[in-house]
Amino acid sequence: MAKVPFVDADLCTGCELCIETCSDVFEMKDDVAIVSDPEGASEEEIQEAIDNCPVEAIIWKE
Ligand code: SF4
Repeated sequence: MAKVPFVDADLCTGCELCIETCSDVFEMKDDVAIVSDPEGASEEEIQEAIDNCPVEAIIWKE
């Protein structure tokens, strides 16, 4: 696997926007988003969720 998305729980506000964009990749746990399946969407779709996160809490990890 090349790179996987990661949510910084300290930054996430729990707005659920990433889950609306990639429901198979992100899920809510304890009021913050977590990555449930890093391969649940294409890299382009995950990038869209990253770009849309209002607090830039999602990053790629190699
Ligand atoms: S879009 Fe960003 S702030 Fe909103 S739930 Fe996802 S990671 Fe958290």
